[in-house]
Amino acid sequence: MTQRINVGVIGATGMVGQNYIRLLANHPWFAVTYVAASPQSAGKPYAEAVAGRWHMYSDIPEPVRKLTVGDANDVAGARGKCELVFSAVSLDKKAVAALELAYAAAGFPVVSNNSAHRATPDVPMIIPEINPDHLDVIAAQRRARNWTTGCIAVKSNCSIQSYMTPIWALWQAGFKPRTMVIATLQALSGAGHPGVPSLDIMDNIVPLIRGEEEKTENEPLKIFGRVENGVIVSDASVAISAHCNRVPVVDGHTACVSLKFADRAPALDEILAIWRKFRGVPQDLDLPMAPKQAIICRDEPDRPQPRKDRDADKAMAVTVGRLRKCPVFDIRFVGLHHNTVRGAAGGAILTAELMKARKVI
Ligand code: NAP
Repeated sequence: MTQRINVGVIGATGMVGQNYIRLLANHPWFAVTYVAASPQSAGKPYAEAVAGRWHMYSDIPEPVRKLTVGDANDVAGARGKCELVFSAVSLDKKAVAALELAYAAAGFPVVSNNSAHRATPDVPMIIPEINPDHLDVIAAQRRARNWTTGCIAVKSNCSIQSYMTPIWALWQAGFKPRTMVIATLQALSGAGHPGVPSLDIMDNIVPLIRGEEEKTENEPLKIFGRVENGVIVSDASVAISAHCNRVPVVDGHTACVSLKFADRAPALDEILAIWRKFRGVPQDLDLPMAPKQAIICRDEPDRPQPRKDRDADKAMAVTVGRLRKCPVFDIRFVGLHHNTVRGAAGGAILTAELMKARKVI
């Protein structure tokens, strides 16, 4: 692929937006040519708009420093400056939903981190290793809404990504889950910046992340669902119970998962063999952002750990460990992923790569 696609980042000055800017530097398929944020940032060069609040460990990529920040609410302002937008604006849900529809109606494919359209029946919520075929719904989405080039695809909540691919790998191999109990230990960066006050989280755990347990219990059902008559029909046969906790870790969401299967439970060595050989469409297509190995199994009894495992394979792999039998359910394990890379901007970039590879864009 020689010609890079010009992309815009809407909400480019925020935590997720900055991760897009960092991860898209030198991307072989996409070039950032447009950035937009609130009216307060609009009109400033990007470097000035983020002065004193650039949170990445690497410097602002040179080509983006001088881009003039647009007003994200001004859809017409993006015309001619980019061909696709990554959406990471923080507004109330209704406003984000309307704004993303306006960008799509104006002809832009929108790939969003926001939850505003996750429940919209004709909007696919993609984890590229699990449900790449849900992109097929975009043809119906375009027909129903009279869009030609525009469309919306979203990524899921970050917390579910620590275990969805391992569970899907088992399902694919014939071991369908029936009941899942999940306790998440979620990193501070998931709350954006400045996020949770230090006096609330240091030496502490906060056993509430508003709205997160509902997302954790519902979003997997859509991802496990199927495209039917132009919409995605959720799979309601899996029951999920979640406890979501904020912990004093900077990056990396951990999840402790107990799982009961619908029929026969696989043996532990069978599970490890399935995980080790699992490949999804992103691996088969060798997409630029895809980890070589979607699931990394750690044998050490005390892994995965956020500090040691979150950056595995470009911070895009899911690491699993502590696989053992469960006296109440069938099995239990611990999963971990990097929440601001795999769980946010990196996951959305991988989705856009999949859309490009499948000629949706
Ligand atoms: P953030 O740091 O607060 O950044 C918000 C962005 O929205 C900034 O660029 C900000 O611009 C812009 N913005 C604020 N008010 C605006 C307005 N009135 N009009 C236009 N733009 C406006 O938030 P974040 O942590 O990056 O999160 C961004 C979004 O991603 C949120 O919706 C969040 O829920 C979602 N998120 C998703 C995931 C995920 O996919 N798993 C993970 C984390 C976050 P200024 O800098 O000019 O104010």
